[in-house]
Amino acid sequence: MDPRRRVPRTDALLADPLLAPALERLGREAVKAEVVRQQERVRRGELAPEACAAATADALPVSGTSLQQVINATGVVLHTNLGRAPLSAAAVEALATAAGSTDVEFDLATGTRARRGRGTLQALLDRVPAAGAALVLNNGAAALVLATTALAAGREVVVSRGEMVEIGDGFRLPDLIASTGARLREVGTTNRTHLGDYAHAVGPETGCILKVHPSNFRVEGFTSSVEVAELAGLGVPVVADVGSGLLAPDPLLPDEPDVRTALLAGASVVTASADKLLGGPQAGLLLGPADVVERLRRHPLARALRVDKLTLAALEATLRAADVPVWQALRLPAEVLRERSERLAAAVPGATVVPSAGAVGGGGGPGVELPGWAVALPPAVAERLRHGSPPVVARVERDRCLVDLRCVPETHDPAVLQAVLAALS
Ligand SMILES: *Cc1c(COP(=O)(O)O)cnc(C)c1O
Repeated sequence: MDPRRRVPRTDALLADPLLAPALERLGREAVKAEVVRQQERVRRGELAPEACAAATADALPVSGTSLQQVINATGVVLHTNLGRAPLSAAAVEALATAAGSTDVEFDLATGTRARRGRGTLQALLDRVPAAGAALVLNNGAAALVLATTALAAGREVVVSRGEMVEIGDGFRLPDLIASTGARLREVGTTNRTHLGDYAHAVGPETGCILKVHPSNFRVEGFTSSVEVAELAGLGVPVVADVGSGLLAPDPLLPDEPDVRTALLAGASVVTASADKLLGGPQAGLLLGPADVVERLRRHPLARALRVDKLTLAALEATLRAADVPVWQALRLPAEVLRERSERLAAAVPGATVVPSAGAVGGGGGPGVELPGWAVALPPAVAERLRHGSPPVVARVERDRCLVDLRCVPETHDPAVLQAVLAALS
């Protein structure tokens, strides 16, 4: 018999109940393309005709995104490689609300165009009354690029040598500034920069002074730097990149600079990330006196760096929320971590509970140790946990695998237990 005749028909396969969920999720074209691939395998004799529908269903992605949800058991609250801040339930709900057609730039009362993201900007100004106005951009780097371009393109940006930082993945601040067409004017030394160093450098060529928080490292010992308040007296705009997005001082992170303090000290522009200590989606916050912010808003680059409706929605929900997962993780009492770790360890043969310091992460608080506990397992378990479903990312430290529940919502503890048992079996 001609083997071609044994290949199941396309329309019969597409009507197979096994493929109904995939059709709903991915659409007819994507499913049909996979059906054709599997029919080819049948033709080549690699696949039994009756297995064609099941093989098609298996080959199709289980979700519309290749991104996988993972459990962050590293104890690092703002893990850049794991997507920084996990969003609150309110922010996730806001994302879904905004996903369809929405009044992002439309006034339903008058039927005319309205200021994009006005609700989000108002929420930000409600949280930081010291700011006259604000902008929301793609990320912290974008906020910085817009500020230095608008204030200093073709002129000089004065920066301390102690603040020439690399922000991760090889991106360096000096390169970022240079890409805007501004010239860097470095002052001071790596460990010490004085007001006089800035004063000496400021002149007719100065576009702005840039004050950067070295958020991912600390210089200790014989050090000196100049505060925003002193720089603001030099008669040129001061751009303060506070990095982490702390809106006001917080006693948990006393060394972390914040937006309100920088504004009150006289900064013309303050920039920060929204997905670090603020606990929101990726975005860059830019705040300052109304006239300066308006000037930046009108710059052509602002349009290229703006955020989408999903970000605006999630950010507003984050700003209006009483609590966010990032701060729940940062403030989690060590005793609670110990109890949860002991419960997990009690169900896992060979597991022990050990003291384990959590970290704020690349987003801020360098050197800050959050006291806590973790479950210690053999080091080989880490890789098996990563390959599990859901994947669990633990920390390997001193030849053991530490499962730190700080950043794991407590409702996920049973899933972590199942994952650990599966990885050990
Ligand atoms: C994180 C950070 C940036 C970059 O912000 P992104 O939102 O990652 O673009 C810039 N400056 C400082 C001080 C930072 O901490």
